Amino acid sequence: MHELGLVNYVVKEVDKFAKENGVDKIKTVTLEFGEVSGIVPAYLYNYWDWYTKKHQMLEGTKLKCDEIPAVSWCDDCKISYDTIAYGKTCPKCGQGNTWLLKGNEMRIKSIEVFEDEEGGSYDQSGNA
Ligand SMILES: [Zn+2]
Repeated sequence: MHELGLVNYVVKEVDKFAKENGVDKIKTVTLEFGEVSGIVPAYLYNYWDWYTKKHQMLEGTKLKCDEIPAVSWCDDCKISYDTIAYGKTCPKCGQGNTWLLKGNEMRIKSIEVFEDEEGGSYDQSGNA
């Protein structure tokens, strides 16, 4: 059940972010994780639901997940290929001298807060 630990971690990070930035409501949290990280989004969403009901700051906070495609590299052929399709076997030489380039990571991609409705956006292009 590493999804529960993951949600725990995310909640902690979001908490820290909120404190550091003086934010008391979070709009959206976007996670990014690899295709072969073993994370099951459905579990994540379940735990997230459960947490957001207990945690006032996260009330109504949406969780989004972005998947990073898994890509492997063959050291013999010097090519990268789709891990999901071929696994550890290089599609060119059929050997297993390969390693995962990406697709096993997990990170918080962004945390979005509710903006004050102050009207107008600031343009920094300058107006000399
Ligand atoms: Zn190869």
